[in-house]
Order: sequence, then structure tokens, then C-alpha cells
Amino acid sequence: MKTHLKVVNIDCRNDYSDEQRQIAAFGSELILRQTSSEQDIVDVCRDADVVLDESSHLPAHVIDQLQACQAIIVYGVGYDRVDVAAATRRGIIVANVADYCTEEVSDHAVALLLAGARRVVVMDRNVRRGGWYDFPTNGPIHRLSSLTLGLVGLGRIGRGVVRKMAGFSLKMLVTDPYLTPAAVPPGVKLVPLERLLLESDLISVHVPLGPETRGLIGEVAFRLMKPTALIVNTSRGPVIDETALARALDENRIAGAALDVAAVEPLPASSPLRKSEHVIFTPHYGASSVESVAQLRATVVDSVAALAHGYWPPFPVNLSVLPKVPLRPWSEFKRT
Ligand code: NAD
Repeated sequence: MKTHLKVVNIDCRNDYSDEQRQIAAFGSELILRQTSSEQDIVDVCRDADVVLDESSHLPAHVIDQLQACQAIIVYGVGYDRVDVAAATRRGIIVANVADYCTEEVSDHAVALLLAGARRVVVMDRNVRRGGWYDFPTNGPIHRLSSLTLGLVGLGRIGRGVVRKMAGFSLKMLVTDPYLTPAAVPPGVKLVPLERLLLESDLISVHVPLGPETRGLIGEVAFRLMKPTALIVNTSRGPVIDETALARALDENRIAGAALDVAAVEPLPASSPLRKSEHVIFTPHYGASSVESVAQLRATVVDSVAALAHGYWPPFPVNLSVLPKVPLRPWSEFKRT
């Protein structure tokens, strides 16, 4: 079976002419749009078979109007912008590219952990201001191997951080309600969140954003942390309550934060976090590398090719969905 699919990329900000050629080569078509409203999305996708989503929100009332849609493919890992339950009810597969940046985000988390622990950014700012060997500014630094690292979430990226930080010989704790102790790598202890917050010097967050994790690290969590604790977030901004974080930093209840993500992106000019010398920011760049972007784009095309040939895409996130057309397993798909 090979079907012509109408594929629409709804927030196309790059040159996708290569993808257009590749998708045309197997008899489907890729339409590029930069939509600015929900009505726009509905208008351009009403008869689309596949919707490619880079950054748009797809709530239930939009999904309900995507009458022909078989699949929504998210350009990335996190799919919190898509109402997956609504899609599932409509028989729409939601798929992501779960593995394209595991190396990059775990590298980035390690970079932020080391930059925070070794106070690299604080010292850089101080040197630029004319300072040099100023202990009060540069602050106390602890030997990494004397510290405890706590990971909130031990999926692909969290495991990458464990693997990479193992060389620093620190103690590692992890909290993940979906894991049993047997599923945790050697040398890592599975503990409840509260214990992790009480005992960790460095905390790195790697959970998906959802109702259960929104605001997971809030006022209560910050009050449990050590005054010397550093928190790193490369997951999703709303997992951390930024107001509570700013207050904890202001009152010296924790030592610092390193954030690749923010609740509102770009981080608003008015964010109180901008005032703190103890916050390191990166602009949601954790996933980025030449190689990861190439892998992301290739996997999205592979996902469309699989659907066009009657197969599941490689990374469906709603496995309980009953697809609109019967599909064979991805593992049997051989692209010619
Ligand atoms: P994953 O699905 O492999 O792992 C997530 C882990 O979190 C799972 O083990 C799950 O059991 C655990 N978890 C769920 N709820 C939890 C809770 N309440 N407490 C503790 N653990 C919980 O995902 P991943 O590939 O490791 O990615 C994690 C997140 O990182 C993604 O969902 C995405 O939002 C974010 N991300 C960010 C970037 C970036 O550019 N900064 C790039 C990719 C992914």
C-alpha cells in the first residue's frame, strides 16, 4: 500500500525544500505554512492527512476540526503543546522524535551542572567587571566528588546525565515514580522526591511537562533544598515555579540555578530571575547541534514515509490510539 498524503507543516521557519523533494519522491506532498492563529491552523489543515508541528499549540477544539488528520508529528521530544487525549479520541496518532537530542540535552545539563558547581559564569562576569581573585564574589567551591547529584526523572536524557557524570565520582540519587529500583543503573539510588531535595547539592530536572509535573519544583521543594543547592532545568520551564525560584534565590535559600528553559519563552524582560547573579541562562538550546537537527529532520520525513506506506511512525506517543487506517509495525518498514 502506498498513499498520497497531504502533509502540512504549520509553523515552518526554515527552508524545507529538501523535505518537500523527499516527500514528493514517495508520492506525497509537503505544504509549508507559517500559521499565526488557531483559525489559520484549522483553515490550512482541515483536509491535511498529516500535520507537522514545530511550536504551535494544538488544543482539543482545534484537533476536533482536523477532519482528515491521521497523524500529528511533533518536531522534537516534548509534546506538551498537543492535547494528546483529544487526538487519541479522534483516532489521530501523535508522534515525536524521542531520541534525536538525547546526547545534546544530557551534554547541556552536564555543562550547566559543571558551570554552576565551578562557578564559571559568576567568575567570567567578575573578570569582565575588572575583578580577579575575589573570594567573596567567586564564592566557595566544593570538590565535585564530595557532592550529591539528584536527578528528577530518569528517562533517556536523565540516563545520559548519569552516564556522563559517573566520571566525577559523586553520589547520585534519582526520583522517578515510574521506575523500580531494579530499573536504575548501578551506583544510583532511587529515592522519593523529598529525600532527593533534602540531600542533593546539585539537582537536574528531566521530566516531561504534564499536569503531574507542572510546578513540581515550587515553594515547598525550594524550602527543602540545601542553601548551597544548585538547580538545573533543561526539561520544560513550567516544571519549576519561577516566582518561588526567584524568591528562594533572593532569600539565599538556595545558591543558584541554571536554566535552558523558561515558563514563557523568550524569558520576559520583566522576569525577576534576570536580576540574580546566581542564575545562568541558555535560550532553550539544549537540543541543538548540527547532527541533532539533521537527525530530527530526517526522522520526521521517515515518519511521513512510514505513514504513506501503511506503517506506524517510529515514535508514537499515544499507543492506545485506534488509527483511522490499519497500520503495520514500524519495525517492518524498509524505506527504499
Ligand atoms: P523520557 O520520556 O525518556 O523521560 C522522562 C522521565 O521522566 C521518565 O522516566 C518518566 O518516568 C519520568 N517522570 C515522569 N513523571 C515524573 C515525575 N513526576 N517525577 C519524576 N520523574 C517523572 O524523556 P527525555 O527524553 O528524558 O526528555 C525529558 C524532557 O526533556 C522532555 O519531556 C522534554 O520536555 C525535555 N526536552 C528538552 C529539550 C531542550 O531543548 N531543552 C530537548 C529535548 C527534551
